[in-house]
Amino acid sequence: MNVLVLNCGSTSLKAEIRDTKLNTSLGKWHVERIGNVVKNHGVAVAQVLAQTEGALIHAVGHRVVHGGEAFTEPTQIDDEVVQTLELLVPLAPLHVPANLQGIRAARAALPDLPHVAVFDTAFHATLPNRAKHYAIPEDIATRHGIRRYGFHGPSHAYVARQAALHMDEDLRDLRVITLHLGGGCSATAVEYGRSVETSMGMTPLEGLVMGTRSGDVDAGALIAIARAEGLTIDELDSMLNRECGLAGLSDTSGDLRDIEARAAEGDPLCRNAINVFAHRIRKYIGAYAAVMGGVDAIVFTAGIGENSALIRHRVAQRLDFLGARIDEDLNRDANVREHGVVDIGAPGCRCRLLVVATDEASEIASQAARVASHVDEINAELRIPIAISARHVHLDRATCDLLFGEGYQLTKYKDISQPGQFACNERVDLVGPRKTIERVRILGPLRRANQVEVSRTDEFTLGIDAPIRNSGDVANSPGITLRGPNGTVTLTQGVIQARRHIHMQPADAERMGVNDRDVVEVAIDSNGRDLVFGDVLVRVSEKYALEMHVDTDEANAAELTSDVSGALVSSTAQVRITRRR
Ligand code: ADP
Repeated sequence: MNVLVLNCGSTSLKAEIRDTKLNTSLGKWHVERIGNVVKNHGVAVAQVLAQTEGALIHAVGHRVVHGGEAFTEPTQIDDEVVQTLELLVPLAPLHVPANLQGIRAARAALPDLPHVAVFDTAFHATLPNRAKHYAIPEDIATRHGIRRYGFHGPSHAYVARQAALHMDEDLRDLRVITLHLGGGCSATAVEYGRSVETSMGMTPLEGLVMGTRSGDVDAGALIAIARAEGLTIDELDSMLNRECGLAGLSDTSGDLRDIEARAAEGDPLCRNAINVFAHRIRKYIGAYAAVMGGVDAIVFTAGIGENSALIRHRVAQRLDFLGARIDEDLNRDANVREHGVVDIGAPGCRCRLLVVATDEASEIASQAARVASHVDEINAELRIPIAISARHVHLDRATCDLLFGEGYQLTKYKDISQPGQFACNERVDLVGPRKTIERVRILGPLRRANQVEVSRTDEFTLGIDAPIRNSGDVANSPGITLRGPNGTVTLTQGVIQARRHIHMQPADAERMGVNDRDVVEVAIDSNGRDLVFGDVLVRVSEKYALEMHVDTDEANAAELTSDVSGALVSSTAQVRITRRR
């Protein structure tokens, strides 16, 4: 699948088309100075699309910085998702509006493609509560969504996986500390594949020292600065995001290359900047090793992590207590752009030191492709409407006569989905050995044999034990007494629980790759009660309309809510065949 990855920063747009099968790049574009030279992200997206020269694109993956509480996994974008994203603007006021502009422009330009939002925060949805909470009043935290979310998710996820691949281990067996050191910097504790601690918090300002962002600062110091300098909240915000970090410490630049050069010339501020930067990272490594009770690999990535041998050298000092020792030659010569992953640890160490080239676009593309292809597959191939079949009765001519009078014509209450069948206005009481169930609807037209379809719960009420049968197969099933306005009939057989089944046309069967009488499994995407039904019979005929029928017990088990007073009630639940037997 070819995925156009759009990464809208506050003033820039990075775009790339990825072939997710071959994991290759089919082209990259970079638009800068949005809001200044280029009017807005809409114009930038249009510029990029003009340059893609009609390249084949199957889906669009949008990097979205903040998913808040609402989004914990990559999500197909529809109008509702856009509305929810608008509510997240206060959580990341610089980034989310830019992300939204890109989404709007791309959806307008490419309306027929699936668009998938991939969230920076999603990888950290697994943070335990103890890592998520700030020690602030709970009601304030809840009202404003103030908690730690974490960022750089696609990068941490990608490099942790690459590290495990390189080590020939399953990520689920490893405790990894990933250090994303770029313009923004963050560390994550990836315990057995899950993010359990990360240094960025509610915003990408917390944690490590960054290019121009402060990382951790005593909140009391901020209050003191604001008071002493007379800063407004916005001014403080701007200072912490744009004038701090390496730039603030060095008074030179937020780019480590400049700082390293000046430090080499003896500039004390630049030397200090490097010391503070590296010390903070080491401190987090120690903390995260404690959080996970050990560490199997420490991974350096992004612009600084991949390129600065000096920072890696500083960070990796005195980590022997963790079983990690750097090999200075390997560190100096590490070239991840060529090799993808490079070992810089001394041979035989318990904890590996790795440099891994991050590839956020590849990660975003593959996450987007997974969602897009899944959705496509369900949409195009395997979606089946589901209908809940409430208890009902089919009658033969003779029984109808006895219950309602000689030659009585059943009257239609409404059509039901299967062509030619209808729910009737007429109802009968089911009189069981234990209790009676009153006013059970009759389905027309009349049939050759009587059949009473009930759920297991109904059987308990009635005091009957009926078998699970295909419709029409009533031989040796229990009988029951039916009470109508004109008389009472005791059937000797006919009570069954209908076997769950799917009606479909031959064309549906062909599309889904099933045959008449196949038994399949059907997964129901339900709200909080996803369920996979086995033993589902496929019934193929030109006479049928595509629909799966379940009874009320089954519907309740999957939390399919609808009014089941009619005979067959279509539900909104979507089902898909997962496996054939
Ligand atoms: P972003 O987070 O903006 O995507 P990158 O991951 O590209 O940033 O990292 C950018 C940072 O990497 C630069 O600010 C620079 O400090 C640092 N960097 C890149 N190359 C080198 C290098 N060879 N030596 C030291 N630092 C480098």
